[in-house]
Amino acid sequence: MQLANRLSKIKPSPTVAVTMRAAELRASGVDVIGLGAGEPDFATPDVILDTAHQALNDGKTKYAPPAGIIELRQAIINKFQRENQLTFDISNITVGSGVKQLLYNAFLVTLNQGDEVIVPAPYWVSYVDQVALCDGAPVVVSCERSEGFKLTPEKLRAAITTKTKWLVLNSPCNPTGAVYSREELTALAVVLRDFPQIQILSDDIYEHIRFTDAPFVTFANVAPDLKDRILTMNGVSKTYVMTGFRLGYAAGNKTLIKAMNMINSQTTTSACTISQWAAVAALAEDYDFLQQHRKIFKHRRDLLLERINGIDGITCDTPHGAFYIYPECTELMGRKTPQGKILQSDEDFAHYLLEQANVAVVHGEAFGLSPYFRISYAIAENALQEACVRIKKAVENLS
Ligand code: PMP
Ligand code: GLU
Repeated sequence: MQLANRLSKIKPSPTVAVTMRAAELRASGVDVIGLGAGEPDFATPDVILDTAHQALNDGKTKYAPPAGIIELRQAIINKFQRENQLTFDISNITVGSGVKQLLYNAFLVTLNQGDEVIVPAPYWVSYVDQVALCDGAPVVVSCERSEGFKLTPEKLRAAITTKTKWLVLNSPCNPTGAVYSREELTALAVVLRDFPQIQILSDDIYEHIRFTDAPFVTFANVAPDLKDRILTMNGVSKTYVMTGFRLGYAAGNKTLIKAMNMINSQTTTSACTISQWAAVAALAEDYDFLQQHRKIFKHRRDLLLERINGIDGITCDTPHGAFYIYPECTELMGRKTPQGKILQSDEDFAHYLLEQANVAVVHGEAFGLSPYFRISYAIAENALQEACVRIKKAVENLS
């Protein structure tokens, strides 16, 4: 079978691959603890399930408009106004099968061969591959641990060329949990005002998973004058435990949104109609479960940080959002496994943990900054505790 040349530009998503590998091992009887999945372990709240059932009972089982059902787009407008103080018109909104698909639509309709997209690293895995798939060139800018894994105005300015088309921002960040402050975003906006050809993509999918009292700030809040250049994305997967519903949304420039809708019309037609009705319920109000989930995540984060920082050779700072930590494992490089293998990369270490400790994590190289690894704490506390015991033991077994 001769596949298309463009496939050579990308690889399978490493986060999805690790999750699937852990599930496979578990199904074959291996007692694997999966810390790879970026998916809340809670049950989807009843109010959402009930609405989905109701949609089925009411026969809402037909195609929807490519831009999304009017009721959902109105719920999204209300959400942006209520939670983010952002005002949008119905023609500014599009709905897709997850933020993942909307990102792809956005890159597909804007990138020509060689157009550059600035992606601060560590980054969520799919940005760079999607850009490449759409003929663009990802420009990865390393943001060091000493910088809180965040892009500085100096580094942004240095990365910009005449070909720069997009800057991708993701706060709270997957995989680091870093959260940008109002001041930090404001400083980036100062640079971006000098380059009118650059659009800003703000991926806010972890908006509601934050652990400080500081209000959430999205890029559109700090630069209302750049409104037409900002595409704000969000979704129901993480906040409302709706990963399998596959539902995301975006707000931005009408011309861009119209083009993204055209892609929907020729690819998926629309996001799943039942999921759209369920999302209307999800976005309707500030449910108590949001607070409860945050409390549980914070408790797990603290427990995990204490255990991980107690392991010789691994260190991690406190992240303020999302449900990941991104520990550094530089000191483990060069150590030898009981099987005689010298650890030369974070991938070697993640492989060792999976094979010898039956713990699945994602290696840092997948997120563009090494040597680190990502742990997702969207998993029950007892399993998290057991995973830490196993990691500690595996590291102690290195020489
Ligand atoms: N952006 C980030 C930063 C993510 O971690 C994810 C997780 N899958 C997505 C986008 C995509 O989410 P979804 O397609 O489920 O909306
Ligand atoms: N975003 C999640 C993760 O990073 C889910 C998997 C994926 O879509 O990449 O693990």
